[in-house]
Amino acid sequence: MPIATTNPATGKVERTFDALSEEEIDRRLELAATAFGSYRLTGLDERAGWMRAAADLLDGDADRIAAVMTTEMGKTITAARAEAHKCAKALRYYAEHAAGFLADRPADAEAVGARRAYVRYQPLGPVLAVMPWNFPLWQVVRFAAPGLMAGNVGLLKHASNVPQTALYLQELFERAGFPEGAFQTLLIRSGEVERVLRDPRVRAATLTGSEPAGRSVAAIAGDEVKPTVLELGGSDPFVVMPSADVEAAAEAAATSRCLNNGQSCISAKRFIVDEAVADAFEERFVACMAGRRVGDPMDEATDVGPLASEQGRADVEEFVADALGRGARLLCGGERPPGDGWYYPPTVVADVTPEMKMFNQEVFGPVASLFRVRGVSAAVELANATGFGLGSNAWTEDPGERERFARELDAGQVFINGMTTSFPELPFGGVKRSGYGRELSEQGIHAFCNAKTVWES
Ligand code: NAP
Repeated sequence: MPIATTNPATGKVERTFDALSEEEIDRRLELAATAFGSYRLTGLDERAGWMRAAADLLDGDADRIAAVMTTEMGKTITAARAEAHKCAKALRYYAEHAAGFLADRPADAEAVGARRAYVRYQPLGPVLAVMPWNFPLWQVVRFAAPGLMAGNVGLLKHASNVPQTALYLQELFERAGFPEGAFQTLLIRSGEVERVLRDPRVRAATLTGSEPAGRSVAAIAGDEVKPTVLELGGSDPFVVMPSADVEAAAEAAATSRCLNNGQSCISAKRFIVDEAVADAFEERFVACMAGRRVGDPMDEATDVGPLASEQGRADVEEFVADALGRGARLLCGGERPPGDGWYYPPTVVADVTPEMKMFNQEVFGPVASLFRVRGVSAAVELANATGFGLGSNAWTEDPGERERFARELDAGQVFINGMTTSFPELPFGGVKRSGYGRELSEQGIHAFCNAKTVWES
C-alpha cells in the first residue's frame, strides 16, 4: 500500500510520501532508546505540563487537523472536529490522573514478612503503536497519553492512508515540549513492522486494527517475548427488549451504525429485536437510517461521508450481495450512488441467517443486520453467536434483564439503554477475537508498566 493521502470523496491522490529507509529507521530506533534513557527520569509534573500544553495546542488546531482527517479518510468534518476535542480531553485526563495511577501501592507488609512492601509502576521503554485510519487521532491518543505519562516513549506506525495526520501527531508532542524522540512517527509500510518489533530497542507493542494484522503482530511479539495489547474488530450486538423505549433505541441504533460512516469497531452491527416490538423498531430504525444525509464530508450538514477506500466499499457491497443472494431482505439503501467518491448509503438488511457472511463477520460500512427473537435467552444467545466480543448494547427497562445482559453478554463493554462509546475514565477493550488488554482509565496506563514488587526487610 503506498503511503499517501487519497481523498475518499474524489478518489484523487493528493500527496504521496516516501517510506523511511532502513538507515533512517535504525536512526529513529536509536533516538527512541536514547530518549527513553532520559525521559524516564523526568518528573510527573513536568510530563503533565507537556501533556496539558499538547491538549491546548490540539484544541487550537482542531479546525486544521479536522480538515486533514476528513481529506485523508472521509469522516465528516463535524465528527473530525469532535474527535480532536475528545483527544484534548483525554490528554488532560491523563495529565491530571497519572500521578495517582502510578503512585506506589502499599501491600500488607506483615503478611509477607517485610518491614515494607509495595508495588511500583515503572515504564517499559520504547513502545511500537500500530494504528488504524478510522479514528486517526483518537486511536493514537488512547495509547500516547497514558504511555507518555508513564514514562515510555512512543513509536507510531500509522495506517498508510493517513500520513499527514500521523506526522501531525509527532509535531504536536514536539511543539508541546516533550523531548526529542519521546514520540516519533515512522512512515513505514506494514511489511517493516516485523523488523521494528523484533529490534531489541523496542520493548512492547500495541495494535489497533484488523484480526490478521493483530495475529501477525502478536505472533512476532510472542516470539520475542514482548507484551502486547490488541484492539481488533467487532460485530457488536444491539438488543431491544419489549420494555425498551423503542423510539430512542431506534435513533441510537442508527447513530451507532452510521458512526464514522459506518467504520467504527464499536458501531452496533447486529440488531436483535424481540418480536413484541420488532415491527415498531424496524419501521423507526429504517426511517432513521434512510433519513441520514449522505454527501460531501466537508459539508457541515452531512451525516455520512464516503468510505475510506475503494476496496472498503467493494467489501461492503460484497457482504450485501452475498446476503441478498441467499434470501435476505433489503429494507433500505444497498446501492452505491452515481458519481465520484467511495460513497455507500445507510443500508438495512433483514432475515439474515447463519450461512450469510454478514451473520458473524464484521461489515465495515453503514450496513445493519436485523434479527427477530423471542425472549431474553434467545437474544443473549444470538448476541453471543460471534467470534468477536468488543462492545454490546441492550435496551430494556426490566431490572432482571439488565442484570442478565451485564452478566451474560460476552463482550468487553455492555451499554444498557445507550450506545457503546469510549471514555478516558473507563477501560476499553475486547474479549474473544476482538483482542486482549485494556486501554484508557487506570488499566490503560498500567498496560505498559512494569508493576515492580518491592520487598524490604
Ligand atoms: P488493518 O488493515 O489491520 O490496519 C491497521 C494497522 O495495521 C495499519 O497501520 C496497517 O498498516 C497495519 N497492518 C496491516 N497489516 C499488518 C501486518 N500484517 N503486520 C503489521 N501491521 C499491519 O486495519 P484497518 O483496515 O486500518 O482498520 C479497520 C479494523 O480495525 C477493523 O477491523 C476495526 O474493527 C478495527 N478497529 C478496532 C478498534 C478497537 O479499538 N478494537 C478500533 C478501531 C478499529 P497499513 O495501513 O500500512 O497496511
